[in-house]
Amino acid sequence: MARQPSRNVGEIRDIRNIGIIAHIDAGKTTVSERMLFYSHKEHRIGEVHEGTATLDWMKEERERGITITAAATTIEWKDHRVNIIDTPGHVDFTSEVERSLRVLDGAIGIFCGTGGVEAQSETVWRQANRYGVPRIAFVNKLDRVGSDFFRVVDAIRDKLGSNAVPTQIPIGSEKGFDGVVDLLERKAVRFDRESLGEKVVLGEVPPELRGLVETWREVLVEAATEFDDSLLEAYLDGEDVDVDRLRAAIRVGTIAGRLTPVLAGSALRNRGIQPLLDAVCQYLPAPQDLVSVQGVHPHLGRKGKEPREEARRLTVEEPFCGLAFKTFADQHGDLVYVRVYSGVLEAGKQVFNSRTGKKERAAKLYLMHADSREKLERVEAGNIVAVVGLRQTSTGDTISDPAHQIALEPPVFPERVVAMAIEPRAIADRDKLIECLGRLAREDPTFAWREDADTGQLVISGMGELHLEIARNRLEQEFRVDATVGKPRVAYRQTILSRSRGEGVFDRRLGERTQYARVVVEIEPATGLQKPEVVNEIRKDRVPLEFHPAITESLWSSVESGGDFGLPLMQIRARAVDGGVRQGDSSPVAFAAASAAAFEKALEGAGSVVLEPVMRFEIQLPEEYYGGVSNDLNQRRTQIEAVDLAQGLRVIRGLVPLAEAFGYSSQLRSLSQGRGTISLEPQSYAPVPEEVAARFRI
Ligand code: GDP
Repeated sequence: MARQPSRNVGEIRDIRNIGIIAHIDAGKTTVSERMLFYSHKEHRIGEVHEGTATLDWMKEERERGITITAAATTIEWKDHRVNIIDTPGHVDFTSEVERSLRVLDGAIGIFCGTGGVEAQSETVWRQANRYGVPRIAFVNKLDRVGSDFFRVVDAIRDKLGSNAVPTQIPIGSEKGFDGVVDLLERKAVRFDRESLGEKVVLGEVPPELRGLVETWREVLVEAATEFDDSLLEAYLDGEDVDVDRLRAAIRVGTIAGRLTPVLAGSALRNRGIQPLLDAVCQYLPAPQDLVSVQGVHPHLGRKGKEPREEARRLTVEEPFCGLAFKTFADQHGDLVYVRVYSGVLEAGKQVFNSRTGKKERAAKLYLMHADSREKLERVEAGNIVAVVGLRQTSTGDTISDPAHQIALEPPVFPERVVAMAIEPRAIADRDKLIECLGRLAREDPTFAWREDADTGQLVISGMGELHLEIARNRLEQEFRVDATVGKPRVAYRQTILSRSRGEGVFDRRLGERTQYARVVVEIEPATGLQKPEVVNEIRKDRVPLEFHPAITESLWSSVESGGDFGLPLMQIRARAVDGGVRQGDSSPVAFAAASAAAFEKALEGAGSVVLEPVMRFEIQLPEEYYGGVSNDLNQRRTQIEAVDLAQGLRVIRGLVPLAEAFGYSSQLRSLSQGRGTISLEPQSYAPVPEEVAARFRI
C-alpha cells in the first residue's frame, strides 16, 4: 500500500522528539512496534521473537534480539508528529543512549511489571537526569504472573527518587489484566481483542475499583496542585477540579522534571498503547518548551582567543544549527541523523561543520519512517532528519549556517575500557579493514581503532566484550571483511599523584638557524574530569599567539601518549603557564619540543599510578546457586555492595575490576546451569593493586 505523504505538521508545538529508555527485555521494542501499528504506519505487528521488528532493522540486532543503533522513526498521532529515537537497553552501548538523550525532548521509561527497576534502568534513568530529560513511565507486562503495578510505582519512587504518580490504574491483574482506568476522566479504557487492540472502548469504572480510583485520583490531584495555584485552591475548597486544568498542571510538573506520570499496560497483549501515545502528546515537551541552545563560536576560543558564547533560540527565524547525533554507514553511503535546533535546513545547501572547520553539502534530506524514507526539500527547527551527503560529519558534530557558525556542546562519552588486536584473514584485505574500522569509529565515538606503533598490529577498543564482538560481526556481515580478533585486553590508564611544575628549554642549532623556545607547564590531578584537560594560560606578551597552537597540540599529544608506563593519562589537568622567546630564533617546532620537555619534567615530579577500569555489575540467579557463585566472586577482587533475595532470585550488586570480569558470563553460566545472568557497565577507574602494577615496571 502506498504511503500518503505526511501532512505538513508545521507547527513546532506539535512535535515530540522522544526516546524510549528501558532495561533490556522490558518491552521497548514491543511497545515501539505497537506505536507504529496504531499510528497506521504499520500494517502488521512485528514480533520480536520472530525477528521481524521494524525498528530492529540491523541484521545483527535481529539475531540477538536486542536493539543497538538508535534509529529515528517518525509517526503521526492525533495531529502531532512524534519522532521516536530508538535507544538501546544493553549497557555495553550506553554511548548510544547518551547521544540520543542529548537530542531528545522527552522520554518514556518502560519498566517490567515483574522485574521493576533493574540496575540498567537505573543507569539510563540517571543519565536522563543528567540531561534533564522529562519522562513519563510505562509499567509493561501487567499480564504476567507476579506483576504488580503499584510495587513498580513504589520502586520508581524509592530507587530512582522520582516523583512517580499514576495517571492510570490497572483493571484486573496477571491473566485477568483487562485495561486501565484513566484517573483524570474516571473512565475505564479497554482494548478490543478482535482488532488487535486497535479499537479503544471507553466505559464506566468497574464498581469494585471505585474506591481505589478515588484514592489514587486524590494522590494525582494533590501532586498536580503544586504546579497550579488555582488548582490548589479548588482542591482545598473540596471542589472537583477541572480535568483540562489538571492535565495542564501535570504537564508543567513533567516538563519541569518534578513529576513522572505513570501509565499501565501490556504491549504484547495490545493494551495501554494508545493512552501512552496520548500521554506523550499531553505531557512531554515540544521542542519550543526548551528555550534555546548554547554553544560557542567555533573559531574563537582556539588559538588562544577568548571563547565567545553563542546561543540560538529554537525557532525557524534563527540561523540554522543542528547536531549530528548518529551516523549510519551502509553500503549505499552514509546517513547522518541530525536534530535541527534552529532555523531551516534545506536540501542541496552547504552547512558548516564546526569540528572539521569545513563546509559540506546536505545533498538530500529524508524523514525516516520505520520501513521507508520520505524525501524532503526543507526541514524546520524542532525536527529530526536523516541527511545524505555529509561525508565528513561524525556523531557529536554541530553543523550550522556557514554565515552564522556555532559549536554546540557535544555529548560526553565514557572511556573505552577494552581493547583487542584484530587482523584480516587475508593480508590483501588490510586496507579494506582499515577503511571499515574508520567507518565504524565514525558511527560510534566509543569505538576506536589504532595501529600499534611498535608492532604494527591493528587494535580496536570499546566499551565491553560484547561491543567489540558485535563490531567484528558487522565487519564480516555488512562489510564482508573476514577478520580474526585476539583476546580482550584491559585498557589501562595512568594518572598523576600530585601537582607539579616543569620547565622545558629548547635551544639548538638546526640547519642554518638556531632555534629557541622556553615553556613552563604545571600539571595537577583532577579526579572529577571526564577527559584530560589542556589549558594554555601563557600571556601573549610573553609568547606571541602564533606559537600557542604548537604548545597546546604538543601538550595534548604528551597527555595521550602517556606517562612513564606508556599508558594514556587521565584525570589530569595540564596548564602551560609561562614561556619565552628569543627574537628571530623561535618557531612552532621549537615550542612543541620545549612543551614536551616541560611536560616530561613535570611528570617526573608528580609521580604516577596505573589505573584500571572498574565495572558495576548486577548478577541475578536462582537461590540454589548463590553459594558457588559467591565463592567464585570472592576470588575476583569484587566489592559486593548489596545482596537481595526476591521471589527466589538472588540479586548481587557490586564492583569488579574489568580484568577479573573477562569471560565471566560463561563462567556464571557453568556455575548456575545457564540460569544466572550478569550485566556489566564501566563505572570508574581505580588504582591497580601492587601485583598488577609490578607488571608495568620492567
Ligand atoms: P526490549 O529488549 O526492551 O526491546 O524488549 P522486547 O520488546 O524485545 O521484549 C522482550 C520480551 O518480552 C519479548 O519476548 C516480548 O515478547 C516480551 N514482552 C514484551 N511486552 C510484553 C508484555 O506486555 N507482556 C508479556 N508477557 N511479555 C511481553
